[in-house]
Amino acid sequence: MYCINCWHDNTRVTDSRTSEDWKAIRRRRECENCHNRFTTFEKIETADLIVEKSGNRKQRYDKDKLEDSILKAVNKRNISINSINDLIRKMEFKWWNRNEITSKEIWKDVLDALYSLDEVAYIRYASVHLNFENASDFIEFINKKKFN
Ligand SMILES: [Zn+2]
Repeated sequence: MYCINCWHDNTRVTDSRTSEDWKAIRRRRECENCHNRFTTFEKIETADLIVEKSGNRKQRYDKDKLEDSILKAVNKRNISINSINDLIRKMEFKWWNRNEITSKEIWKDVLDALYSLDEVAYIRYASVHLNFENASDFIEFINKKKFN
């Protein structure tokens, strides 16, 4: 990162934190040459994330698709679109430095997040994404209420 004052190319990060809305990482930097201080924002980029699905199929991460699947699970539950967006943003923040992720890891993160948000949505999502062999598997899962 170049200094915006003297164009020296060594700047030191003095502080690093997530912005309040989880959309970016805010860094305080100091130029090693002129000691000018400035702030940069790094946007979280998930456009290049590759999702590995069962059978080694690979797909580009699709936020809209993920949002759709969560919206289906929360249908008619009293959950705001903002809390869904927050949930997705926090997961993306967790994934942002990865190149690949498995769809199973995504489901697990969604389930963890839904578990604390809404039990019904959690169970709906699980019933769609986990492959239950039969009803008793599903009942056992509901009784345990924990995915692993
Ligand atoms: Zn400088």
